Amino acid sequence: MKRTPIKFSQMRLGESNSALLENLRQIVGSQYILETKSDLAAYIEEPRGYFDSRTDAAVFPATAAEVAAIVTACGKSGVSIIPQGGNTGLCGGAVSQPGQVILNLRRMNRIIGIDPINDTITVEAGCILADIQQSALNADRFFPLSLGAEGSCQIGGNLSTNAGGINVLRYGNVRDQVLGLQAVLADGTIWNGLSELRKDNTGYDLRHLIVGSEGTLGIITQAVLRLSPRPKQVETAFAGLRDLEASLDLLAKARSDSGGSLSSFELIPGLGVALANQHIPGCRDPLDVRYEWSVILVYSGSAAGEGLKEALEGTLACAMEEGIVADAVVSQSEEQTQQIWAIREGLREAQTLEGVAISHDVAVKVSSVPDLIHRATSAGARLVPGVRLYPFGHVGDGNIHLSFLQPLDMNADEFRSRQSEINEMVFDLVDDLGGSFSAEHGVGLLRLKQMKQYKNPTGLSVMAKIKKALDPHGILNPGKVIP
Ligand SMILES: Cc1cc2nc3c(=O)[nH]c(=O)nc-3n(C[C@H](O)[C@H](O)[C@H](O)COP(=O)(O)OP(=O)(O)OC[C@H]3O[C@@H](n4cnc5c(N)ncnc54)[C@H](O)[C@@H]3O)c2cc1C
Repeated sequence: MKRTPIKFSQMRLGESNSALLENLRQIVGSQYILETKSDLAAYIEEPRGYFDSRTDAAVFPATAAEVAAIVTACGKSGVSIIPQGGNTGLCGGAVSQPGQVILNLRRMNRIIGIDPINDTITVEAGCILADIQQSALNADRFFPLSLGAEGSCQIGGNLSTNAGGINVLRYGNVRDQVLGLQAVLADGTIWNGLSELRKDNTGYDLRHLIVGSEGTLGIITQAVLRLSPRPKQVETAFAGLRDLEASLDLLAKARSDSGGSLSSFELIPGLGVALANQHIPGCRDPLDVRYEWSVILVYSGSAAGEGLKEALEGTLACAMEEGIVADAVVSQSEEQTQQIWAIREGLREAQTLEGVAISHDVAVKVSSVPDLIHRATSAGARLVPGVRLYPFGHVGDGNIHLSFLQPLDMNADEFRSRQSEINEMVFDLVDDLGGSFSAEHGVGLLRLKQMKQYKNPTGLSVMAKIKKALDPHGILNPGKVIP
């Protein structure tokens, strides 16, 4: 949406640090450092176009030792580093400025090994998420992190942002999937915390400090990840609801009926179904009637013959009798399942194609989701008459992607000019409900103002002290996360 000008430092890396660039070439090999504008384009493109990103160089190390050498060399020259994975993050965490070096992990993409007894997979940080999922499946195991960018995001980026996605309800965030980490710290030390243990109460847990730190405390180079049993039965349904409150009634029912097999529960607004149909080729309504609110729910289980389809049909039949669900379809084929998910996966793109969207990734406690949406609808209409609220996502976790779409009779620039008022309204409301202004996307550059405004001051001051202790010269991703 609106590009936020960043105060660029005047230093040009090329002019003042030719010795550093030569040093970096020697560390990685000259073919693994990019310096021209056209070569750098893919690494400075910011997915939402919110920020101008620029750099003079991107380096592509192949080993943790090379990462450490780069950090040491940059540290000596006082040049800061922007760690980067697939560059799909949604809050400007991997945005760089001239005078900074992008360190992209994509060459470090080896699956190091799977331990079937320990139920773990060890990977390099630059592995694409979808490749890890596939490797786990090949070994008849399951890596549950799943999100729209899985074909291009890297596990290092997922860990650094503590990514969530569609399976959090059952498996937790990626933080819950990690047993051990290897990371390069700001002084160039390689911290080898590649533990394969499920229990280890020996002091502070550095793994959890680095997970979610968005590249500000260390550069993740390897990880040991927990695997789960491969689901042998996955049953997917699309249910049109009586009203928004019915989503919570159905969630409670599905939780108690499914015996722990409920793995996804995603809210879909009627406007979302309409726009996905309109803008995304191949999307179509799963039901004959379009309801104002629907959900996708999934029961999945690892034991054969669990009767999950019958259980799901039973939940929905009972919910229909009780008037919670107006109509529902349980998928009968892989193709039908894909059609149902195509709606969910098309929601973000459909909103972009519809015009200007002012988006928020917020969390409240699950029971407050309807209140959040109702209050945001009325407050949004008071602020900008005709604005279209477009809330979707992980209602089972209380995480809603709350977007406001440009009114049909308002031009794009006029709507854009209302962004800060809408943001303030949403974040005040979320704060009032005891929620979070960033549920799963992180802080990056995008939510620095909110960190200052809403984050507990003591917590924020401890974070600043940790950053100072681990990175006293501000070498790693400076200016991100901590205002
Ligand atoms: C279509 C789409 C759907 C999405 N859906 C979801 C979703 O459902 N749930 C969700 O949580 N997120 C979602 N996201 C955002 C998500 O956070 C990112 O896609 C992903 O987790 C970031 O990985 P990346 O490799 O692209 O990281 P990047 O964008 O390259 O970087 C993200 C941050 O991590 C840091 N970083 C990257 N690699 C490392 C490393 N090795 N060591 C230290 N720091 C590093 C960067 O400095 C930056 O601060 C979505 C994004 C898109 C585009």
